[in-house]
Amino acid sequence: KYYNMVEDMKGKIRVYCRVRPLSKSELGRGNFSVVKSPDDYTVIVDTSRGTKDFQYDTVFMPDSTQEKVFEDTNNLIQSAVDGYNVCIFAYGQTGSGKTFTIIGGGDGSLPGIAPRAFNRIFDLLEENKTKFSYKVTCYMLELYNDKLLDLFIKPGTHSDEKMDIKKDKRGMVVISGAEIKKATNAKELYALFEQGSGNRHTASTMMNAESSRSHLVIGIVIETMNRVSGQILKGKLSLVDLAGSERVGKTGASAQQLKEAMSINKSLSALGDVISALSSEQDFIPYRNNKLTMLMQDSLGGNAKTLMFVNISPADYNADETVVSLTLVITSL
Ligand code: ADP
Ligand code: MG
Repeated sequence: KYYNMVEDMKGKIRVYCRVRPLSKSELGRGNFSVVKSPDDYTVIVDTSRGTKDFQYDTVFMPDSTQEKVFEDTNNLIQSAVDGYNVCIFAYGQTGSGKTFTIIGGGDGSLPGIAPRAFNRIFDLLEENKTKFSYKVTCYMLELYNDKLLDLFIKPGTHSDEKMDIKKDKRGMVVISGAEIKKATNAKELYALFEQGSGNRHTASTMMNAESSRSHLVIGIVIETMNRVSGQILKGKLSLVDLAGSERVGKTGASAQQLKEAMSINKSLSALGDVISALSSEQDFIPYRNNKLTMLMQDSLGGNAKTLMFVNISPADYNADETVVSLTLVITSL
């Protein structure tokens, strides 16, 4: 199935493309960039089968800083505080910069969208605290081989069966059985995130799995109450670092790797189907086909504001996979 980004998502989902720089080791090996961008919206890839170009809402080239990327994302944080459901997610092959974009890199010295958003949320809430009281809660989940793991619970002490993806009266996704933690400032929210990340690391070590083979979902629920009128607004910021989208060849892959690949493929296909259904304005949106789309249901479509990053590698040896990501081809094994 082929999904053309801009055609499919106009007005519904904004799509940014971000190209990571070549790494030191790639440069050392003599790899070179096959990706160009003549303007802020176009990305061109040189492949063995010729040049292909793609259009996005914005293209960030390797020299785009974390600050610049967040600047162009910032207004969505305000929307979440204003009561909207906002989802920011990153799609792309492993090693293309998804985690760098959503979480950050450089051992914390190059914070990505999540830590910046934590600060921004509380800055906005504090600025208006004479008018509004507020409450911020969050959950942090991992979806691995179609199993939900609660990252606020010590690995090995919980079971998927206890968790269920439901919707509240207003259509907001709630994860029954999941730990919901309260944060009263950005530092607390960051500490919770660190705790969840630590559990994710332990869990993947225990399962002998790479974290790039699972989806990470952070949900931050922001409730404000107008101190005069009593009006309550409830918004949510979902930050999703998707599992690597690369195709896995059957040769040389272990049974575990094939199982992971199959599960990732199913969930990313389901996501593609939802996006495609939304963009063609179908009445029926197939959210319930996969746990990933059920988790993201309140952040895709309706009044939700969605921002997707397509992260790509500039390297010559990744050209084919890069083109696959850019056309959002979702192949089945
Ligand atoms: P993914 O999560 O898609 O597997 P990562 O975010 O882990 O990829 O990125 C792979 C490597 O490239 C990491 O070492 C990361 O720090 C680095 N990297 C990715 N994007 C950038 C960028 N825009 N600028 C600098 N380094 C980057
Ligand atoms: Mg990653």
